[in-house]
Amino acid sequence: MSYSVNIASQLEKSLPDELLALVRAAADLAKAYGQRLYLVGGSIRDLLLGRRNLDIDLVVEGDALELAHLLTKIYGGDLIIHPRFGTAKFRKAGFAIDLATARLETYKRPGALPKVVPGSIRDDLFRRDFTINAMAVRLDPENLGELLDPYGGSDDLEKGLIRILYPNSFIDDATRILRAIRYEQRLGFHLEPSTEKLLRRDVTMMDTLSGDRLRHEIELILMEVRPEKAFLRSEELGVLRMLNPSLRGDGWLAERFEQARQLTKPDATLYLSLLIYQLSEEENEGLIQRLKVSGKMAKTMRDTIRLKEEIPTLADTSLSPSSIYRLLEGYSPQAILATSLASPSPIASSNLIIYVNKLRYMRPILNGEALKKMGVVEGPRIGEMLRALLDARLDGRVETKGDEEALVRGWLKGQASSSPP
Ligand code: ATP
Repeated sequence: MSYSVNIASQLEKSLPDELLALVRAAADLAKAYGQRLYLVGGSIRDLLLGRRNLDIDLVVEGDALELAHLLTKIYGGDLIIHPRFGTAKFRKAGFAIDLATARLETYKRPGALPKVVPGSIRDDLFRRDFTINAMAVRLDPENLGELLDPYGGSDDLEKGLIRILYPNSFIDDATRILRAIRYEQRLGFHLEPSTEKLLRRDVTMMDTLSGDRLRHEIELILMEVRPEKAFLRSEELGVLRMLNPSLRGDGWLAERFEQARQLTKPDATLYLSLLIYQLSEEENEGLIQRLKVSGKMAKTMRDTIRLKEEIPTLADTSLSPSSIYRLLEGYSPQAILATSLASPSPIASSNLIIYVNKLRYMRPILNGEALKKMGVVEGPRIGEMLRALLDARLDGRVETKGDEEALVRGWLKGQASSSPP
């Protein structure tokens, strides 16, 4: 493969017209104000690899915020500014471009965010994670398409290598450990041998990362097309055990992820449930705290571990649909799906799937208003009757609205045999 092709024309071919127009507008403006504009990072990597990537990162030797303001003033669109980082996101016509001032970074201590001062494009490329992400393309009209590749990124792309830029890179920022694995597995590349050695040496630096940064990188892995590949590799490199020694990136996990994709559309929370499936409650809680997981994801993780205990009850062919419903009501759907994929009992799995696909959506035809109209006194009795009507529907004892009304009339008459629980 050769990268001597004209990058400018490749850029024109690969970007939608509206996005290309935004990039051109930014380049023209930069030129008018005597600032040099570059396309940087992943978009060049993917451009050279022929992979689609509409995430446009621009770096200006000058002032990105000023450029972004001018862009909005002249062309309209929306702007989000991060003054602290000297970065801006410009949005128009459904597309976005990120603008940043070229900067020089220094790390005060491992894992912390770096100290940032304005710098040259070379400085800006040097602060990046891997050679394949440390290339820039000039966008000024006279030199459009000229590649800046000071660290041999295009060579590494040809050889299929992930290479850090300097020996202490993983120490300065251990998120790069997970990023290296993610790119390696996504692109079918290899860690360059000395990079791999340094990664293995520095795995313990993952302890220097904040929960938020660590979780973010794991979420990025979970959004890959085949996240299991990165987890298998993480195990092999001793990285997974830094999150928790009981986590396994093995054949079992790979099979479950594959089955998950057959069952439903890709879902990061479902993948995470499968990843943590073998953990004890205590280990799971430790991981939730370490990664600062909150909200729906934390609930799903806790539900997954709790649900394991219900498998023996669920492994019963004579379980009625209403019993399955009552057992699983309130559990996160992803935890239920994960348990159905992980459970050793086919009966439990099938009951779990029936709940997710069918039972959880079922409702009685009659509602509270209808019950009141039939003479049920307002109060807890209404809720009890609605639950009993749902049970009757789940178990196939009623079909039509008339069937439900007959049941309610029976209860109102106080017939012991048909009174709701
Ligand atoms: P992806 O396809 O995963 O989105 P990307 O290259 O666009 O790839 P981003 O996470 O959007 O990745 O980051 C943009 C660029 O910023 C990267 O290409 C890389 O040059 C740089 N970068 C991101 N994270 C780091 C980091 N932790 N250390 C150094 N450089 C980084």
